[in-house]
Amino acid sequence: MDATLTFLGTGTSMGVPTLGCDCAVCADAASPTGDPRNRRTRPSVLISWEGHHVVIDTGPDFHAQAIRAGIRRLDAVLYTHGHADHVLGMDDLRPLSFHNPDSLPLYADEATAGTIERIFDYTFRKHDRYATSARVRLHRLSSEPGAAVDLFGARFLRVPITHGRHTISGYRFGSAAYLTDLSAIPADSLPLLTGLDVLVLDALRHEPHPTHSNLANSIALVEQLKPRRAFFTHMSHDLDHETTNATLPPHIRLAYDGLQVHFDIAPDDHAA
Ligand SMILES: [Zn+2]
Ligand SMILES: [Zn+2]
Ligand SMILES: [Zn+2]
Repeated sequence: MDATLTFLGTGTSMGVPTLGCDCAVCADAASPTGDPRNRRTRPSVLISWEGHHVVIDTGPDFHAQAIRAGIRRLDAVLYTHGHADHVLGMDDLRPLSFHNPDSLPLYADEATAGTIERIFDYTFRKHDRYATSARVRLHRLSSEPGAAVDLFGARFLRVPITHGRHTISGYRFGSAAYLTDLSAIPADSLPLLTGLDVLVLDALRHEPHPTHSNLANSIALVEQLKPRRAFFTHMSHDLDHETTNATLPPHIRLAYDGLQVHFDIAPDDHAA
């Protein structure tokens, strides 16, 4: 079952260019003649197959990303965690949810669902709900490794990953996995990540960071998990696209906003 993964955004929480920064990468990203691959909006991906469209995370850039990618309808949204760079665009689902005869389903783990309900209280409260709020229904994912969401013949498995002191949600779907905002992968999650064609991984910068994987650590994770191809995301202004890519082996590439990758989303035997 052919599917396309579109990188809607590949930047870290502050985006690139970063406000107030004059570094070479931010200057290049801000210049009309600069490398557009250095312009990184907040992290999100669109997964499309057989006319169905699912987004993972809706950050503060979701409106502009949806226009750029030509998103006209959505079937579901999966959330990784409740940080601002991943959830603040939820309200921009409103016009996409109004056409849905049923509510647009959102999937999140317990902590993330609680954060979304707090931020967007006017959408979820039972009484005096704002009349033109998003027509969404929030579904809570079990914290068990491999909890699954079945959508239109595809199966999205929750892959618990470590993000500093928290455990958040990565996802595996068919032969691809999307693991953003991770500092480590717990041993229990490793069996969910075998036999991958496409692995998308957090790679924030060169230097170590307490809550994110850096470039060297992400390269080591690729060597451990052995996907056929790996793409790095959630990148800061530390990583110039062209010069950093030139240092990587050919099966590992920095992602960039708008990049599309094709893969097979048919459920495999990890869906036990
Ligand atoms: Zn983030
Ligand atoms: Zn900068
Ligand atoms: Zn985060």
